[in-house]
Order: sequence, then C-alpha cells, then structure tokens
Amino acid sequence: MSNAWIDINLDAIAHNYREITQHLSQGARVMAVVKADAYGLGAVPIAQTLQKLGCEAFAVTTVEEGLILRQQGIQGIILVLGPVSSKQIEGALEADLQLTIGDFSILTQCATVAAQLGKEAQVHLKLETGMGRTGFFEKDWEDLAESLKAADSINPVGIYTHLARAALLDRTYTQQQYDTFQRGVKKMEQHGFVGLWKHICNSAAFLDYPEWHLDFIRTGTLLVGHFPSTSFAGMLKLQDPWIAKAQIVSLRQVPKGTFVGYQSIYRTKAETRLAVIPVGYADGFGVQPHFIPQGFWDFIKIIIKNFLALCGIFVGQETVAWQGHSIRVAGKIGMQLTVLDVGRLTCQVGDVVILPLRRTQANPRMLRQYWSEERLITKREIKEGYLQTYPE
Ligand SMILES: *Cc1c(COP(=O)(O)O)cnc(C)c1O
Repeated sequence: MSNAWIDINLDAIAHNYREITQHLSQGARVMAVVKADAYGLGAVPIAQTLQKLGCEAFAVTTVEEGLILRQQGIQGIILVLGPVSSKQIEGALEADLQLTIGDFSILTQCATVAAQLGKEAQVHLKLETGMGRTGFFEKDWEDLAESLKAADSINPVGIYTHLARAALLDRTYTQQQYDTFQRGVKKMEQHGFVGLWKHICNSAAFLDYPEWHLDFIRTGTLLVGHFPSTSFAGMLKLQDPWIAKAQIVSLRQVPKGTFVGYQSIYRTKAETRLAVIPVGYADGFGVQPHFIPQGFWDFIKIIIKNFLALCGIFVGQETVAWQGHSIRVAGKIGMQLTVLDVGRLTCQVGDVVILPLRRTQANPRMLRQYWSEERLITKREIKEGYLQTYPE
C-alpha cells in the first residue's frame, strides 16, 4: 500500500447533497455534476452515494464517463454535457444516456444512428447564450426547430445553457444570458416543443439566483464541498469530504548550509532535520493550472513574487500540515519525492502529514479508501458493488 493517499468521506457528500436540496426552489431537482471523476473524488462512489439519497439525475462531460456510471448501477438520468463523436453515439443510446445536441452535425449523426438502432434518442438542446463554447446561436434556432421536427428518432427532453460569469458580482452579463435562454425556450415552444426540462444554474447561479432554479440545477462544486468563489463562502453549511495525506518515510539530521533537491534552490539556514514524503508532481503535488493575471495588481504581485524567488525568498511556497503545525517544502518538488524542512518539530518516521493537493490534479491512483460513519470502504469493494447497498 502506498504511503501517500486520499481519503473521501461519503457522509460529507451526503451532508452537502441534503444541504443543497434544502435550498432548492419549488419544482427544481438536483442534477449532480460528476464529471472529471467527480472533480477528482471518484465518480462512481459519489454517484452511488447520491443515488441512495434519491438523486435522480447526473451529468458528465463524455460518453465514456456516462457508460462507467451505468455499468456501476446508476439508474437515473445521465446527461452527457460535452459534444459527442459519431462513433460514441451507438453505445450512448444503448446505455440510455441522454446526449447534448449543440450543433447540426451532432443532431444529424444522432438522428441517423438512433434511426438505425430503431431507438429514440433522448436529448437536451444546448443554446449558446454567451459561454462561447458549444450550443446553437440565436440565428440558428429557427432551423434547429425545423430540423428537430424532421428527425423522428430524436426526442428532445431538455433545453439548457451554461453561464460564464455567474460567480462574478456584476449581474448584467448573466442576466443577458438568462434572457437569451428564455427567448430560446419560447422559440422552441412556438414550434411545439413544450414541457422540456429547463436548466441554467451551475453552483454559483444556484446560490445567487433562486428564481432561476427551473427544473434542474447542475451542481458539482458544492457537492464536493467547495464554493465557486470566496464571495459565496458560508451561504451553505458544506463539509469537506476530501483529504490528502502522506507518511514521512525518511528523516535525517543535516548541518547548516545543506543544499536540497534539484538545482539546489534551497539551502538550510541552520542545523535542522529533513523529512521525505513519497509524493510529488506525478501525484499532482505542486502542480498549478495555467494562470492569467486578473488585472494590473495581480500582474504586479506575480512580478514581485518571481523577483523574490530569484533572491531565494519563496512566498506562497507549498506547505504541509502536521499536528496543527505548518511545515515548508524544501526545494523543488520531485516526481514522487518531496523534502520537508521540519526544523525543531518532533515528527517521526511514519507520522502522517496533510497535503494541499488540488483535487482535480491529484492522481486517481491515490484514491485509496472511502469512509462513512459506519466503516472504511476500500476501492476494491466499490468495484465489487458494495456501495450499491450503502448506507444500510
Ligand atoms: C461543470 C459544469 C457544471 C457544474 O458547475 P459547478 O459550478 O462546478 O457546479 C454545470 N453545467 C455545466 C455545463 C458544466 O460543464
């Protein structure tokens, strides 16, 4: 068993789900977004836990993600949010996944494959309202309606769009997206497509626009215990289900002036103890997504930070936590090994430290066990279907 791992508390997921449902406007349901392996937590156990609590709808980005959920016993709606390729459509329809129709080529392919299979494809129409990613632009809505009428094998069950700025304070753009969406809904209704499930809210909009909950809200961020931005913090009582840990596997006393790690960017300032933990950038430790400064002051901050780093002063250096103390990473994080300068702290080999990993960057092989109040559940048990009977 590896000495670096991630624990997931399924009770916290259940708690977050209940908390969200208590804030739903009347008539709305939760569509649990479990894309990207449920934001790094493990889509199957998360979806199984939510299904037990009565969640009836799930969303993923790819057909592949949807098929895994079906194979593992997820029964409700599974909506594929992303564009599909022609080769995937047959498998998706066989598994009763609902597909997103966001352009004419997918519409045609879907209609053809469904007709060949003698099946009806249940689809959600995606409208482009300002995200600039996928969906039908307003100028094409008339053609869309006509094409749908001509495609007997296509059964539109939903219509949705995705908000680009819901997490920002300024509401103007978001309101425009909503108004555009409503025009699209009306257009489809004029063509006889009435009673489609409507959904527009992601986590941020769910919190900020209760009057827009409509038939579904699509939330992932809140379920896994995060807020879309700090301005939302505290609006719900969320629990954090996720924790990454590593055990100290080596500990040495070293003199002042010892160089540590690649390129020797770190040098001990006094006699100290150096600890090694078996985790590195291959596990997603110290890996940050590409970052673009948000405005002028952000840009200045980055320049100052880089300038200080050139002088050997590292602000915002990774730290890990040990028994309430914060321990700094010494030098560059390696592929699978990282050195900590523990100073006077009394850590021992075998002690556990808590890692600040980004969930979506964490290597899934670190997902070792899930726990609930009752007991620990291993990954193997999940594969064998134990979770289908949890919680009893
Ligand atoms: C990821 C995603 C969501 C969920 O957004 P969160 O803010 O993480 O809850 C909703 N809708 C679409 C289309 C998405 O891609």
